Amino acid sequence: MYDLLVIGAGPGGYVAAIRAAQLGMRVGVVEKEKALGGTCLRVGCIPSKALLETTERIYEVKKGLLGAKVQGLEVDLKALLAYKDKVVQANTQGIEFLFKKNGIARHLGTARFLSDRKVLVEETGEELSARFILIATGSAPLIPPWAQVDFERVVTSTEALSFPEVPQRLIVVGGGVIGLELGVVWHRLGAEVVVLEYMDRILPTMDAELSRAAEKVFKKEGLAIRTGVRVTAVLPQAKGARVELEGGEVLEADRVLLAVGRRPYTEGLALENAGLATDEKGRIPVDEHLRTPIPHIYAIGDVIRGPMLAHKASEEGIAAVEHMAKGFGHVDYQAIPSVVYTHPEVAGVGYTEEELKEKGIPYKVGRFPYAASGRARAMGETEGFVKVLAHAKTDRILGVHGIGARVGDILAEAALAIFFKASAEDVGRAPHHHPSLSEILKEAALAAWEKPIHL
Ligand code: FAD
Repeated sequence: MYDLLVIGAGPGGYVAAIRAAQLGMRVGVVEKEKALGGTCLRVGCIPSKALLETTERIYEVKKGLLGAKVQGLEVDLKALLAYKDKVVQANTQGIEFLFKKNGIARHLGTARFLSDRKVLVEETGEELSARFILIATGSAPLIPPWAQVDFERVVTSTEALSFPEVPQRLIVVGGGVIGLELGVVWHRLGAEVVVLEYMDRILPTMDAELSRAAEKVFKKEGLAIRTGVRVTAVLPQAKGARVELEGGEVLEADRVLLAVGRRPYTEGLALENAGLATDEKGRIPVDEHLRTPIPHIYAIGDVIRGPMLAHKASEEGIAAVEHMAKGFGHVDYQAIPSVVYTHPEVAGVGYTEEELKEKGIPYKVGRFPYAASGRARAMGETEGFVKVLAHAKTDRILGVHGIGARVGDILAEAALAIFFKASAEDVGRAPHHHPSLSEILKEAALAAWEKPIHL
């Protein structure tokens, strides 16, 4: 009998398992895939970032940025994909090492509830029981009924991480983070990329000013972006694939990437045997302590409410096991940043302007452009801005949003500021090293509080 049985070893489950072991619990983990690390390490965050990093460098050389001119540049796609696979392997093996180091027992197979206390590992027949059970089964790509996915010509994000050759024409259905990141990768490698988005703007969950700025930049880079477009069918053809739009327009491409979202994954868990059910969106309901209606069963990550982000899953994993072990645990959802790792990056943390208006919270805005930063100029990265949203009366930072080179890294400080409930004055007065991109945040904070120096 374990103190804790974790189902799923993604960034939610594996982090929870390690923290629980640190707190002295006897921990077992059931994971159906051979490699640990979940969607994020195997087919999500890590491989996509490996491709974004490598293709960004190739693209810079191709563009002849900062005076460098290279002739006869060749890209070895096989080598590039092999590099990505190596990065994934190093990361997943790293988790195996951490499991051993922390004495965590690993069960390879699919978990199915037999009761609220007992779990069967389908493939091995093992019956496991525990004082607490944590469901961290994550999510899977959403495939709408109008799309026929053959995983070759019409694909999900998983296949789009490993196309065997650069498609001449790629249509991406969905202008969210995953569609844009992978669209950018293949565009940099030479594909003609068309992004179709149903909403009136790409990145619809981010601050609207960022969406508009990002659309402009991506279009300038050569991505064809069409918003307000309703796709009615996606069909693989003998050669290539076809996309039908409302109004009768038909588009053709070598490959179509379906990136319209992800859905919580609970298949095969037999939740009903534990007395649990999913909500109307397929999520497992939890309370503020991440407890399901069965108090010794918790759930975290993509399978519950909230943004589908790796670090959100990890924070919840830690909060859940601390609640089990000590009776308290907390996640500050306002301080969870979200980053699109394109070039330039697009990132946000805290409230968007739209949310503040909707809630009727009075706020002031401080903006600072990359073009006015010495470091950004030296990098040849003058596109973009950071804006700080602070409470109109208290000056407390409520949200920070930005677009620009490595803006995600700048926002780490913004997340900390929100976590510590800092004011714009606090961040504006804190010393920042020069020359650095972090000074853009300092200046934006100064702009929100009183006045920036360099503008
Ligand atoms: P998952 O990572 O999905 O892990 C769940 C695990 O549970 C899986 O390993 C699965 O095999 C296992 N499992 C499921 N059912 C069972 C069962 N019955 N028995 C045993 N095992 C089971 N997020 C970011 O924050 N940053 C990014 O840059 C980013 N990039 C992404 C890029 C792509 C292409 C994709 C697809 C996603 C990306 N994400 C990113 C999202 C991120 O991957 C998820 O939010 C994160 O993986 C969720 O973690 P999780 O632990 O909840 O679930």
